[in-house]
Amino acid sequence: MLDNAPILSCQHAGLTIEGYSRAAVQTYWRIPELKIGFDLGAHPWDFMSTPTWLLTHTHLDHIAALPVYVARRRMMRMEPPRIYLPAEALEDVRRLLLVMQRLDRGRMICHMEGVQPGGEIELSRENVITVFATSHTIPSVGYVVWDRRMKLKEEYLGLPGDRIRDLRQSGVAVTREVRVPLVAYTGDTSPAGLDNYPPVYQAKILITEMSFIRPNHRREKIHKFGHMHLDDFVERADRFQNELIICAHFSTRYHAHEVKRLVEGKLPANLRERVKLWL
Ligand SMILES: [Zn+2]
Repeated sequence: MLDNAPILSCQHAGLTIEGYSRAAVQTYWRIPELKIGFDLGAHPWDFMSTPTWLLTHTHLDHIAALPVYVARRRMMRMEPPRIYLPAEALEDVRRLLLVMQRLDRGRMICHMEGVQPGGEIELSRENVITVFATSHTIPSVGYVVWDRRMKLKEEYLGLPGDRIRDLRQSGVAVTREVRVPLVAYTGDTSPAGLDNYPPVYQAKILITEMSFIRPNHRREKIHKFGHMHLDDFVERADRFQNELIICAHFSTRYHAHEVKRLVEGKLPANLRERVKLWL
């Protein structure tokens, strides 16, 4: 299919991560197995089948393609999509879609919901999403996708099956929910977005931003603008328990070879082997 939005992809733990992210240009990701996407800075035609999108904030490079995506779904007679975004932006984004509807003379049909840190989204029986605060220049959130299973409570572990069945039928809650963090997505954030929500460091896959890498960049300025520097990762090397850490959203002033050279030279080995530079 003819397309002008690049897509990189990789696989880990039974999930496919697809997308692209450069600072101030465009950011969009999706995980087909979970039927979700993160941010809509652009919208590759192939991403249309993904029905649920989680937006981190309303900077243009993360949201510009929202009307395009909503309109395409309707044009292709697909179910109206579900869009989650920071609650502070909900009414303005509704207005944006209404204006596009008037200009384009095509109805913009979607389910939009505002989210706040601490909130939860029921994705399916097996997966739930939690919303956490990130730290950027406008209202912003990140998302963690959890695997959840019902496990028999400790006290019933040795019991025979018919006893457990009887207990359950008599109304006893014999199971408890166990959650494992699968994917954390931060969008744009300063290091506070990682530090203030431990599951970010525990998720099997972390997708995050490393907008700046050069040694002479002033870090307090970078943090003030809600971004991260390579040195922030080096400082936190011991905290990352993730199996895979995808670093993206590099500033456009860098070439791929410069990013690789600087990052590989600076990250300690145990982190370097788990970091994937999204270039
Ligand atoms: Zn931003």
